[in-house]
Amino acid sequence: IPLRVLGSCFHVAMDGIAASEKIFKIIDTPVIKEETKEMKDFHNIHIAFEDISFSYEKNRKTLEHINLNIENGKITALAGVSGCGKSTIANMLMGFYKNYEGKILLNHKELRSVDPFQLRKKIHVVTNNSYIFTGTFEDNLKIGKATATEKEMHEALKKVNLYDFVMSLDKGLKSEIKEEGANLSGGQCQRLAFARALLYDSEIYIFDEATSNIDVESEEAIMKVIYELGKIKTVILISHRLYNVRGADRIYVLSKGKLKEMGNHEKLMDQKGVYFELVSEQNELEQSGVENYA
Ligand code: ATP
Repeated sequence: IPLRVLGSCFHVAMDGIAASEKIFKIIDTPVIKEETKEMKDFHNIHIAFEDISFSYEKNRKTLEHINLNIENGKITALAGVSGCGKSTIANMLMGFYKNYEGKILLNHKELRSVDPFQLRKKIHVVTNNSYIFTGTFEDNLKIGKATATEKEMHEALKKVNLYDFVMSLDKGLKSEIKEEGANLSGGQCQRLAFARALLYDSEIYIFDEATSNIDVESEEAIMKVIYELGKIKTVILISHRLYNVRGADRIYVLSKGKLKEMGNHEKLMDQKGVYFELVSEQNELEQSGVENYA
């Protein structure tokens, strides 16, 4: 389940964040709180999940004994069928749940001891349902970076294949977007959210089904941007479309909350295990013309 859908699907009770609207606030709004010196020095973030187990509900484990090593300057992908726990891992990293067993370390610092508002400055999430604000394209982009120049905004739009569209509008960057992007297509909203993400300059990026709804051409452009970003940032990629994760440096394959396999695409294909089965299934479905094989 993509992060933004959390609020509408579940009533989540969490330490310090009781209502779903607050989650949206945390994800979608820029952080005003001054960054501490400690967090300013928090670069090149290495993330380690050490023997993590977690349950949303009593007697039902969602994640069991998960070990992950998520390196800076690399793309780490999470793969597995719907409901295996991919978004839960992303949610945990956002600091939404603290009642887990094991350790989540960010550059050796336990996540529970990091101020959630400070953490928010370092992590940016793009989903297939990212929030688009009422206002202009410029307003939406400047949420990513308040001081962004016109050139920077143009560059970001070009990278996500949205530049020509915005420039074709009478007022260009100053064109108005209706509430929640009502006058844009789903794909345009996603591409705008992507352009905003590029301007954010976070340390950790989570792309959770971020390219579903997008046409193939734009998807290719965006995947290229994600892979470029992966060279310098800490990037976690979650995508049903395994085609998109085949270039990842490391793919973790989950099944029913357990880690089953780990490696790059070639290694996992050679192994002929869960990942190989998933890829084979998707290839068959694609060949038979089924588009939604989630
Ligand atoms: P998808 O690919 O469909 O997004 P996923 O692999 O990301 O799925 P999660 O969203 O992490 O899976 O869900 C893992 C399990 O936890 C599922 O069984 C789901 O029903 C359950 N779950 C997710 N969020 C909650 C919640 N807030 N409360 C209770 N159960 C939840």
